[in-house]
Amino acid sequence: MVEQRYKGYTLRNFEEIEQVKSLSPEIIEAIKVVGHVLPFKVNSYVIDELIDWSNIPNDPIFQLTFPQKDMLKPDDYQVMKDALDRGASEEEITRIANEIRYQLNPHPAGQQQYNVPMLDGEQIPGMQHKYRETVLFFPKNGQTCFSYCTFCFRWPQFIGIESLKFASKEIDKLVNYLNEHEEVQDVLFTGGDPMVMKPHMFGEYIRPLLEIDHIKTVRIGTKVLAYWPYKLTEDTSEGPKYLDLFKEVSDSGKHLAIMAHFNHYAELKTDAVKRATRNLRQIGANIRTQSPIMNHINADAKVWAKMWRTQVDMGMVPYYMFIARDTGAQHYFKVPLVKAWEIFYKAYQNVSGVCRTVRGPSMSTTWGKIEVTGPARVGNQRVLTLRFIQGRNPDWVGRPFFAKYDENAIWLDDLKPAFGEKFFFENETQYLQSFDRIKNLVELPLISS
Ligand SMILES: *Cc1c(COP(=O)(O)O)cnc(C)c1O
Ligand code: SF4
Repeated sequence: MVEQRYKGYTLRNFEEIEQVKSLSPEIIEAIKVVGHVLPFKVNSYVIDELIDWSNIPNDPIFQLTFPQKDMLKPDDYQVMKDALDRGASEEEITRIANEIRYQLNPHPAGQQQYNVPMLDGEQIPGMQHKYRETVLFFPKNGQTCFSYCTFCFRWPQFIGIESLKFASKEIDKLVNYLNEHEEVQDVLFTGGDPMVMKPHMFGEYIRPLLEIDHIKTVRIGTKVLAYWPYKLTEDTSEGPKYLDLFKEVSDSGKHLAIMAHFNHYAELKTDAVKRATRNLRQIGANIRTQSPIMNHINADAKVWAKMWRTQVDMGMVPYYMFIARDTGAQHYFKVPLVKAWEIFYKAYQNVSGVCRTVRGPSMSTTWGKIEVTGPARVGNQRVLTLRFIQGRNPDWVGRPFFAKYDENAIWLDDLKPAFGEKFFFENETQYLQSFDRIKNLVELPLISS
């Protein structure tokens, strides 16, 4: 078989894409204008094998990867379009773009203030420790992706505003930190997409973790299966090396969990993703899947039911449905909480129990991951019931709480407590820090083996 070579397209060269040449001038203009504000990159696999070019602009994968006019507010769109039309300098265009970007709330849920842990009195910038058992790690060399998702809240990392970037200097700090934190059981590599790294580079990050006894699970948050599955097929130069590296992890007795990001069943249809999935399963990796629910892409129960069903058929485990974060082009993608709940349960009711490992819809808030468990009536009041799936204080997890019923709410901030002045956790602001700084406050004993 011929080796598949990755080719990426950005604003600079996307007009060379054969299929783009037949798009309308309006669509091409929108890509240019919006692409100057939101990150834009798409690769040859997405173009040739995923997008259905007979269904533009509605094709979900086209919506997922190509900037669309309505992703910017009309005023912002006009300002950028005017600047481009009059041939404004690169400096001016960057300044305009940054003004729009800063309004788009680039670091939601207090990621920068609250979650960065300390070691020897210094902050460790490439890490987050929010929930007791799991440390997130952002390898410096994994701060890009195979293609960029138009909805992505990680976008400040890709557009080169230096002060907004997460990046880790080195693995040593992670290892030192973990050695001092026996409560941590999982390390979750994230990015960007850590699998953009060459296998030998990723190996340098992963291998030291195999020596740490209390680390039980190596998780890799990645969209590689959706955007570049050739990274894990036998017929490419990197595929066998990656599979060998991952086999080392399973052989060491650790659990290798691929947290695979899929937004639509269209991403599961190719021969390459099927082979890559089979290969991962063969070396002992478990694949769990997650996605936000988004207007224009997957706000439809049939899409979710078919996606979960197909994933299970392929040997994956459905894990999370998220509510799209309050950042970036959220006005374009947003699905109200009640609507998301309806879609989730309509899909959930139509799949067999083996697909019902999935949880959601869930908001990743400053306080933790909060699941919308659904509308209900308490006495004569309509409420929305909620509960934590993950909390900064582990003691919050699982406790039901109630908000006033509100069909238009799209995030926790929009909800009002149904009883009393505050939600119960709002009195516990002492937990709003990286886990290492609140360690002494957490009273629940850690149950470890
Ligand atoms: C989602 C998330 C995790 C992992 O949560 P799980 O429910 O264990 O999958 C860990 N850290 C942060 C900051 C997260 O947002
Ligand atoms: S692959 Fe993940 S990190 Fe990259 S743009 Fe998409 S959602 Fe964001």
